[in-house]
Amino acid sequence: MKLLRAMREPLKYVQGKGALLKFEEEMGYMGQRWLFVCSNSGYKACHDQIEESFGDKDAYRRYEIFGGISSKGEIAKMQKIVEEDNIDAVVAIGGGSAVDTAKATAYYSGKKVVIIPTVAATDAPCTGLSVIYNDDGSFDKYLFYPENPAAVMVDTQVIANAPVKFLIAGMGDALGTYFEGLASIRTESTSLEGTGITRAGLAIAKLCYETLRDYSTQAITACENHVVTPAFENVVEACVYLSGVGADNVNCAAAHSFYNGLTSLGGHSAAHGSCVAFGTLVQLVLEGATQEEFENVQGYCLEVGLPTTLAELGITTDEQIKQIAEAACVPGETIHNLAGDVTPDELYAAIVATDAMGKKVAE
Ligand SMILES: [Zn+2]
Repeated sequence: MKLLRAMREPLKYVQGKGALLKFEEEMGYMGQRWLFVCSNSGYKACHDQIEESFGDKDAYRRYEIFGGISSKGEIAKMQKIVEEDNIDAVVAIGGGSAVDTAKATAYYSGKKVVIIPTVAATDAPCTGLSVIYNDDGSFDKYLFYPENPAAVMVDTQVIANAPVKFLIAGMGDALGTYFEGLASIRTESTSLEGTGITRAGLAIAKLCYETLRDYSTQAITACENHVVTPAFENVVEACVYLSGVGADNVNCAAAHSFYNGLTSLGGHSAAHGSCVAFGTLVQLVLEGATQEEFENVQGYCLEVGLPTTLAELGITTDEQIKQIAEAACVPGETIHNLAGDVTPDELYAAIVATDAMGKKVAE
């Protein structure tokens, strides 16, 4: 039997300047008792507006400042609070770690989860999975959930107030979505959620890329000045919704495997999205893209300030490249969604070539 096609996304997506002032109005139907799992900066950026949204309603609100990575211990601690305080819904406020902790807490407790991203740096908010890391920061596994978050609420003023480097990283993560999706479709691979790929999923991934091309430069300028413009709204939607829902409903390929390979080095500090952007260039080389196709995407990276050389990712030795190539090709990696498959040797060659082409344009 052919794989069933399926489409997954958050049940509700709300975005705009000042959105948090409508938190209660938009999300209040989920219950009366709330646990907010916050990063330190997320708490500062969002607490007052969320409180204001409740007005004089006597809903129970508990804010927990979360520190570090989404570890089992941290998730168990939050689960205990959900039980003891009889929580109806869990809310994540922050970046990837807070999001993954809240998602896992809600899942294990059988509660709804609302995601409030405070940066647009990754696909984490809209997807139905969490990325789990080992304690040393290396990639462990994807943890899949039976459904995507109940809601995602993005206050674009909060995103505009955050440093622009997060938005640029988000553009890098979003850049991979369409190309990884195309690769997955060519080989009739499953979606990231293990189902057949829908036309809707690919259309979203394509719109993600087009939106990045059309609006990224304007959006960066808006973010540098901490203001919200229509172009900024478009790019935030691309980075948070179109990229997240796109990736979930198509699949990843070489770009994300390159990132996972890089984490195997340990102690890296490059942003996820920066690695995915460079990984997208590597994927194009692997696929035999024409010079024009390659320069199109490389030009975008240069335009917005995403890396086109390994040095920008902190990779300086041949040994490191070999290790990345080995780790990116282990069984189960999404690089195997590429047509004709890829060996560590072939990936090594593509990484070196991509880097060399980046150095040429940097000269
Ligand atoms: Zn990603």
